[in-house]
Amino acid sequence: MDDVDLAWECTEAHLQQALALRLRSGTGQASRFTCLDCEEEIPPERRTAAVGCVRCLDCQTVIEKRRKP
Ligand SMILES: [Zn+2]
Repeated sequence: MDDVDLAWECTEAHLQQALALRLRSGTGQASRFTCLDCEEEIPPERRTAAVGCVRCLDCQTVIEKRRKP
């Protein structure tokens, strides 16, 4: 098995985990593949870590900073 196979297996595991989390959360809201604000692609790691996210990390950070007084 080479590194590519290993990387693919990791991705598969991530996808399965994301799917399981989404089913468990029951919101029915899937993460977007592109950012709502800048339309940059949201990295798969972020979509997995924050299921239901609609923005890339940069835009999300800006939004959260704006929310604070
Ligand atoms: Zn963005």
